[in-house]
Amino acid sequence: MPHGTREGIVSYIIGIATAALVALLGSVAGFDRERGFYPAILMVVASYYVLFAAIGDSANSLWPEAMVMAAFVVTAVLGFRRNLWLVVVGLAAHGILDLFHASGTVTPGVPAWWPAFCLAFDISAAAYCAYLLLWRAGKAGSPDRRCRRTADCEAPQHGAPAGLHP
Ligand SMILES: [Zn+2]
Repeated sequence: MPHGTREGIVSYIIGIATAALVALLGSVAGFDRERGFYPAILMVVASYYVLFAAIGDSANSLWPEAMVMAAFVVTAVLGFRRNLWLVVVGLAAHGILDLFHASGTVTPGVPAWWPAFCLAFDISAAAYCAYLLLWRAGKAGSPDRRCRRTADCEAPQHGAPAGLHP
């Protein structure tokens, strides 16, 4: 990863801006009211190194990358089913994984700017998802706060996981 270089800084900025745009659209459109929104993002994020390994025609990297992706997919599913904080951890963990790809030697085919972009995206998305979860917990503890929508005020059905916004 070109730390400190102009390309590296631009990659970080674009990663943060992209995550902000996705988060904004997710909130404005209401996508993030669906519990599966950030788990789906985690699965998409985790798929790219498999794609790059395929593009780089690297058989040595393809299966290891596929297994790593599978671990993130399992995390996303468990997060969806059990606790969305797992998704926050998963996104942050992918940011750490990006550091290992920064050298460009782990998986051929990875664009030089990708690890920095993905790291910035992951950490930003994890932070916003954590904010939403904390905000939800705050709302749950403040029953007098006005709900933004009628559906926001409805308690989750028994057995159905709650979304990011109650
Ligand atoms: Zn990443």
